[in-house]
Amino acid sequence: MIIDGERYANELNIALSEKCNILQKQYGRAPSLHVVLIGENPASQVYVKMKQKRAEEIGVESVIHLLDENVSQKDVLWKIQGLNVDEDVDGILVQMPLPAHLNTEEIIEAVNPKKDVDGLTSANLGKLLRNRATLMPCTPLGCMYLLKQWRSDLAGLHAVIVGRSILVGKPLGLLLSQANVTVTTCHSKTKNLAFHTQQADILIAACGIPNLIGEKHVKPGACVIDVGITKLPTGKLYGDVDFNAVKPVADAITPVPFGVGPMTVSYLMANTILAMEEGVKST
Ligand code: NAP
Repeated sequence: MIIDGERYANELNIALSEKCNILQKQYGRAPSLHVVLIGENPASQVYVKMKQKRAEEIGVESVIHLLDENVSQKDVLWKIQGLNVDEDVDGILVQMPLPAHLNTEEIIEAVNPKKDVDGLTSANLGKLLRNRATLMPCTPLGCMYLLKQWRSDLAGLHAVIVGRSILVGKPLGLLLSQANVTVTTCHSKTKNLAFHTQQADILIAACGIPNLIGEKHVKPGACVIDVGITKLPTGKLYGDVDFNAVKPVADAITPVPFGVGPMTVSYLMANTILAMEEGVKST
């Protein structure tokens, strides 16, 4: 089974579009996503355009705030502060990575947790830890959705996650654990990676190393979710999994592109809609 992320994202987008219509009718405006884009990183520009296109298709209003590459920390915080207090702004996303002179941690924490559609502030990650989160990181949510298409009940399975970033590996471990999955996390200091990954009913590759996961890493019948996306100088996109080598061994596998990527964007829109719903509820 090839898990077609594009297809599932499209299904999700139809439901999101319907929600936007309802909110528009009820409150006279669409949910709004404000993206702060700093500098001219070409990959970031592509990602932001992709998000903008998806927002338009679904009916989410998207506004891009372009800041100069050399903008000061103070000015970025000032911009975020303005968006935090603007009642017409539902979601705020600061596109990463930031130029090296900026303090990324401080900028992430400056976002109002109620508008933090990336789910990366300490407040939202803390709530996730306590099992009462509303806004959660988009990529882990997308992975969970795809896994549920493979097996509706994941309880009792063993997942191995390769990667422990705050963006993907760590929050995904929490979500899997909440779904009663037994979780092992591997990272760059893990010894004998294949020994661990071979135990996995669910193998998540989220380390950013093209084709790191080959046939020898996969237990026959496993579900393999490839989060990695690396663009090589040739322009070709690679996942962390050697798709052709792993496909015959796995029961299910996500491709790159058109696997986890479209789901991440859809969950960004879902979080923006949720932020508006929660916001209007509390006013
Ligand atoms: P990151 O912050 O660089 O984290 C990479 C993780 O992989 C770290 O925990 C690192 O271990 C681990 N790692 C590195 N080399 C390893 C090795 N040889 N064996 C085992 N683990 C290793 O990256 P990220 O932000 O999580 O992103 C990971 C990948 O997913 C990237 O390719 C990124 O582009 C992609 N991504 C895709 C989406 C999507 O929507 N599809 C969304 C987000 C990210 P240490 O902690 O020990 O350094």
